Amino acid sequence: MADQSFNAFEMAQAQFDKVADLLDLDKGTRDLLRFPTREYMFSIPVRMDEGQVNIFRGFRVQHNDVRGPSKGGIRFHPLETIDTVRALSMWMTWKCAVVDIPLGGSKGGVVCDPHNLSNRELEQICRGWIRQIARDIGPLRDVPAPDIMTSPQHMLWMLDEYEAIMGAKYPGLITGKPVSLGGSLGRVEATGFGVVYTVREALKELGIPPENTVASVQGFGNVAQYAIRLYQQIGGKVICVSCWDQNDQISYTYRKTDGINLDELLNITDRFGGINKSKASDLWYDVLPGDAWLEQDVDILIPAALENQITGVNVEKISKQVKIIAEGANGPTTPEADKVIAERNIFLIPDFLANAGGVTCSYFEQVQSNMNYYWDLDEVLGKLDMKMTSAFIAVSDLARKKKLFMRDAAYVIAISRVAQACKDRGWV
Ligand code: NAD
Repeated sequence: MADQSFNAFEMAQAQFDKVADLLDLDKGTRDLLRFPTREYMFSIPVRMDEGQVNIFRGFRVQHNDVRGPSKGGIRFHPLETIDTVRALSMWMTWKCAVVDIPLGGSKGGVVCDPHNLSNRELEQICRGWIRQIARDIGPLRDVPAPDIMTSPQHMLWMLDEYEAIMGAKYPGLITGKPVSLGGSLGRVEATGFGVVYTVREALKELGIPPENTVASVQGFGNVAQYAIRLYQQIGGKVICVSCWDQNDQISYTYRKTDGINLDELLNITDRFGGINKSKASDLWYDVLPGDAWLEQDVDILIPAALENQITGVNVEKISKQVKIIAEGANGPTTPEADKVIAERNIFLIPDFLANAGGVTCSYFEQVQSNMNYYWDLDEVLGKLDMKMTSAFIAVSDLARKKKLFMRDAAYVIAISRVAQACKDRGWV
């Protein structure tokens, strides 16, 4: 979304085509899986606080539901496009398949900038989004969740509107709800923690103790914050984070070479994951250009902001010291950059594996909501660790045995599962 010439859907299709060739998929299966099954685009009229009515563009794309109801977040972003949503819905299909949960892939969005909207206006957008799509989602059809710039409060307004329309309680409609109203413990930590479970396993394979490693992170939102928390708990040191600055309309990197203090930074961060630049400077953080996070002499890079961040243009700036790239964000690395990363033998943990902790915990939330019985935090995180670790091991074993790039190995597993399900159901 950051660069308007970049098309995430073309990138998702290129990644798919490469593995479809490897798997020698038949034409029917390729044609089915290269495109979403269903797409919805709609207008959401909202009376603004100043009295005028603004029309917001909303999307829901259901890529594939052969393995179960589709599942995917809703993004609020000013540069959201239908192609970004298509790509993200496709990646959701592969993500659910690679961790082997019985769900398909979808994604939604609204073109808007929550920085400039009041809570009342945001509530109207959430309720309006549901009114347009209520007939085509549901606990047995398609289950939304939060994503960039959407929160548990947004999910609750959406659930409330859906239940008002349906005239009954459907806590399994949506995940990422507040814990006090049907959310799962562990959901806020899940994606970031999941990233670190896979980093921990990768370090084991490489024979490197976590306490001997240093990382640099792009982004300082939900995924980045919890990834940093767990990575520090297992002994790692984070020296850099970068984030978007809403005032200056550019991103900055904040660096402290003897290690950032997570709680200190959280104290000066807004609800969108934006760090206060002057306060960071007062706390002796170096304030560097936005892409400096990529150029640091560290062992681990964790892109956890947006798509299209490691590209053919900047990939050569990655330090020779980097051994692991764990993609917290969706689609942060382009195929051109992938080639260089593979040649340099950097251990890449691809997005739809590394950040699958979020959807896995969302699936746990759905299970708990549907049975109306809730697990404690240790049970949730224990199950999450098991799912993520076994998915990681399956991908990395295949990569080693077949000498595949990790992204391709993850795709081989995910696409094979989805293609097989299409075949078994007689769709192709
Ligand atoms: P968020 O909105 O909480 O945080 C996003 C962060 O990225 C913020 O700190 C923001 O300042 C920063 N950012 C935005 N533009 C930037 C730029 N150009 N340069 C540097 N930083 C920038 O979002 P999140 O939930 O943490 O999601 C981050 C990524 O992870 C997205 O790609 C999202 O799709 C993906 N993801 C999220 C989840 C989840 O459960 N939250 C699950 C799977 C994948």
